[in-house]
Amino acid sequence: MEQKNHGSHVIVLPYPSQGHINPLLQFAKHLASKGVKATLATTHYTVKTHGIYGAPFFTNSASVCSIFCRVHHGVVRLPMKEEELPLMMRGMPPMNLVDLPSFVQAPESNPAYLAMQLTQYSNLDKADWVFGNSFEELEGQVVKNVWELWPGKLIGPMIPSAYLDQRIEDDKGYGASLWKPLSSECAKWLETKSSQSVIYVSFGSMVSLTEEQMEEMAWGLKGSNLDFIWVVRESEITKLPSEFIDLTTSGKGLIVTWCNQLEMLAHEAIGCFVTHCGWNSTLEGLGLGVPMVGVPKWADQLTNAKFIEEIWGVGVRAKGDEKGIVRREELMGRLKEVMGGERSVEIRKNACKWKELAKEAISEGGSSDKSIDEFVEHLKCGNEK
Ligand code: UDP
Repeated sequence: MEQKNHGSHVIVLPYPSQGHINPLLQFAKHLASKGVKATLATTHYTVKTHGIYGAPFFTNSASVCSIFCRVHHGVVRLPMKEEELPLMMRGMPPMNLVDLPSFVQAPESNPAYLAMQLTQYSNLDKADWVFGNSFEELEGQVVKNVWELWPGKLIGPMIPSAYLDQRIEDDKGYGASLWKPLSSECAKWLETKSSQSVIYVSFGSMVSLTEEQMEEMAWGLKGSNLDFIWVVRESEITKLPSEFIDLTTSGKGLIVTWCNQLEMLAHEAIGCFVTHCGWNSTLEGLGLGVPMVGVPKWADQLTNAKFIEEIWGVGVRAKGDEKGIVRREELMGRLKEVMGGERSVEIRKNACKWKELAKEAISEGGSSDKSIDEFVEHLKCGNEK
């Protein structure tokens, strides 16, 4: 972070959900570490309704990566009241209150539109580039326009530096958690467990399992007889069978409403990651070399699960029945396979290989690092003209 700023400014404007904030924020940190002023833009609504845990990161490094989170007063002023803002600028409403397709397909949710609003109406420093993301189908036109200016470059995995190349100082987490992570509870509990013995289970920030699926997961975990940490968001807790919650007091399992997932995956006690195969979780499992059991539910999760099992060979996919429910026997079978079955040796070997490849990609001279350097050079040239 010692790099001298060379006058370029990039704004990153993620769709305001955890899985979209994390990689763009990480990208902003890479730019900041190479002397570009990078600003993460999110909305007052997002901060007001969730809070952003880990925000000291921003205040400490305000000169290289600052946050503005007030849309209608403070750093950025748009000439509208909050209720007049497009839905996306207000932030992600709770999943049970939103009709997701109409939310993401509204023309005003388009990053290009939002970027235009930001740069046109805000008093932010002029931005050389604004990076926005939403859901793929909204981005076709934007990608087409940008491609003419700048052919696409591949970057990633965008995982905090401490877990891979260690080149960005103190970069131990994404630094913008929408829920409070229960890190010390998890660490204390894991201290008592032996190496690679615990299953870490998480369905990310959006997937909401049916009660029937929760029940099958719960009894599948119990039936495996393995220790587990399961992230069950507060809004989902009531779906757990009460006898199962009682069981967690026996020390076999820990249920937390949110945690620092990277800390979990990097912990030596974790032996397997049961994941919904969101793209960030998939890359985190891959980048940290943790064997996975995929329980995908929708969107890219199904493709990612296929990659985990068939292309990278770093895990297996749990299959649903005719109702799409992964039954307890299926989960137990898959856990057994990854934790000690014949296939587990090969899976662990592949997981180590991919961990090394991820590190290589973002280390100095790696494919991701080169792409970011090319972009930074392009910014510098633009500012020298
Ligand atoms: N995550 C976390 N703590 C948790 C669960 C998830 O920090 O308890 C993070 C995880 O590290 C990942 C993001 O939330 O970066 C979830 O993104 P993903 O693309 O996997 O899934 P989504 O939430 O978008 O479905």
